Amino acid sequence: MIHTILIANRGEIASRIIRTCKAMGIRSVAVYSEADRDAPFVASADVAVCIGESAPSASYLNQDKIIEAAKRTGANAIHPGYGFLSENAEFADLCVKNQLIFIGPNSEAIRAMGSKATAKKIMQHAGVPVVPGYEGEVQTIEVLTEEANKIGFPLLLKASAGGGGKGMRIVNAAEQLKEAIASAKSEAQNAFGDDHLIIEKYIASGRHIEFQIFGDQHNNYIHLNERECTIQRRYQKVLEESPSPVLSEETRAKMGEVAVKAAAALKYDNAGTVEFIYDHNTTSFYFLEVNTRLQVEHPVTEEVTGLDLVKLQIQSAQGDELSIQQKDVQFNGYAMELRLYAEDPMNNFMPATGTVLNFSWPNLEGLRMEAAIRSGSEITVFYDPMIAKIIIKGENRQEAFRKMQFALQQMVCLGTVTNQNFLQYLVKHPKVIAGEYDTHFIQDFFTADLMRANHDTDTNLAMLAVSSYNWYQRTQERTLLAAVPSGWRNNFAYPQTDQYELDEVKTTVQYRNLDGHLHFKIADAKYDVQVINVQDDLIRLAIDGLQMSFHIANNQQNYFVHNEQIGTIHLSLLERFPLPKKQKVEGAYEAAIPSTILKIAQKVGNTVQEGDLLMVISSMKMENSIYADAAGVVAEIYVEEGQSVAAGTTLLQINKN
Ligand code: ADP
Repeated sequence: MIHTILIANRGEIASRIIRTCKAMGIRSVAVYSEADRDAPFVASADVAVCIGESAPSASYLNQDKIIEAAKRTGANAIHPGYGFLSENAEFADLCVKNQLIFIGPNSEAIRAMGSKATAKKIMQHAGVPVVPGYEGEVQTIEVLTEEANKIGFPLLLKASAGGGGKGMRIVNAAEQLKEAIASAKSEAQNAFGDDHLIIEKYIASGRHIEFQIFGDQHNNYIHLNERECTIQRRYQKVLEESPSPVLSEETRAKMGEVAVKAAAALKYDNAGTVEFIYDHNTTSFYFLEVNTRLQVEHPVTEEVTGLDLVKLQIQSAQGDELSIQQKDVQFNGYAMELRLYAEDPMNNFMPATGTVLNFSWPNLEGLRMEAAIRSGSEITVFYDPMIAKIIIKGENRQEAFRKMQFALQQMVCLGTVTNQNFLQYLVKHPKVIAGEYDTHFIQDFFTADLMRANHDTDTNLAMLAVSSYNWYQRTQERTLLAAVPSGWRNNFAYPQTDQYELDEVKTTVQYRNLDGHLHFKIADAKYDVQVINVQDDLIRLAIDGLQMSFHIANNQQNYFVHNEQIGTIHLSLLERFPLPKKQKVEGAYEAAIPSTILKIAQKVGNTVQEGDLLMVISSMKMENSIYADAAGVVAEIYVEEGQSVAAGTTLLQINKN
């Protein structure tokens, strides 16, 4: 019997697993890196062991340290969560070797599914439909080209060892093939140490539909229906829902049957997910891969089935028979999940770091928050920047969408750039509401300009909220001349001014305090504002007679404002006497966000052409290649491979020819 579980993971999933441990009367052990010392998941475990420095390789990926921590704390099982070691067959074996139960499937299943090429072969053999393509051993450019031409265009190159969308390239025509193969291979080699590629026909308007499967060690297999995860950015999921808005009962039953067939072919004995690409025009579906772990989006299935998937995992791992048979699985209502990230949708969803100063959500029936952080937590460069999963259960899809829109309106997450406004945009989009989308939806229907449009009045409200808030704070702080209202001027005609910058646009706000009202002027717009009250970071204003609340958080001159109507707005209050800005030197390449240098492709003195690779850097799990934007000579390289650098660090200097 499992009595103590060590969770070899962090963040929301560690908290989630610990919750089930507590409910089952199982002791929980957290392991943490130095960066996570004060994280909520660490505090919620019965005991917690520091296993090393913040970089994952030194802590969450350090197998020996984790095994040692398990022994030291008397754990007899390890739950790997998702990511990190969850799909690492050697680690599963190492657990078993140390008499620790690995809470996941047998290591052969993990190993087999770790290669997309092997996985496809096994599935094809088991009678599971797979995407037509090539998954052979021979990897010469001649053979790959020949196979690609047979499959036809558009096609998709994938790293066989791949995951997280890395090493994937869509190729639309034969002449792009050579270049695409080279770059996919190099990315695959960098990310996975293995440059094997598979080729697939590209399903142009496909939908990502996956089935949750479960097995035990007694050859019982079930599925728990689908999750649709079609809305993605960079091949990564943003919105997940169940049931899918497009599957017919007939197709659902067929896919479920195939998913169970896949489970049986692998003698699958824990939680897993069979992913399919589904073509709504033909209702055909094709196997993509099996994820041999608990998925990020598992709560969606929990909400519609009422099952605790972590509990089922623990039971399977300790050798129990599945407590539920296929015919007894019940599906109720509808559930959806959105992933709240520290990232910038206006800048290609670039991950962001920073301290979340204020994080709260409404008390809403059907809302389940799986949060990785709390107010005051820092989003660091070391890990995935997910802040929380927002899960809504509703009686039907319509109700759930309404509640999700409300939850996003009321949720406050201030202090760093997040995708909260973007998520709101998404769940209000008529096509999303209608369920009419494919995996390109975000690419096709989202532009930064669209989000900016209609923003003017909103930003005015944000600016006047900040100015009113600061005015109020000044009034409170003044001890001298307390009877004279703040902003009082000898020259009565002279208003106070604040200048703000948002999206590189500067705006001047003028206001005057007359009879307890602040009279604002922003460009041509005028507002009569009354401060109703202020509680900590929350200010309630009557703006032209309409009372509204604003949450305000600031980090020096950076202000984050949230209001249920305007969403979250990030602006800077410009200093009255600003220091001159750092001049950007021509030909100097900078790290836009905190990064680690993976590879330096040039030496000082090299001549480069426009488009030549200069460096590969990794920032928050995302790899970026830096290319020369003009020809020149490498004059200076300021960093080394393996080095971690802060945002704004100059990486290298190219002198133009
Ligand atoms: P990874 O393991 O890197 O996540 P997957 O094989 O799971 O890669 O694919 C990730 C996403 O890429 C899928 O969810 C889907 O949106 C898209 N995709 C994968 N294969 C195809 C294909 N053959 N045709 C169209 N889209 C695909």
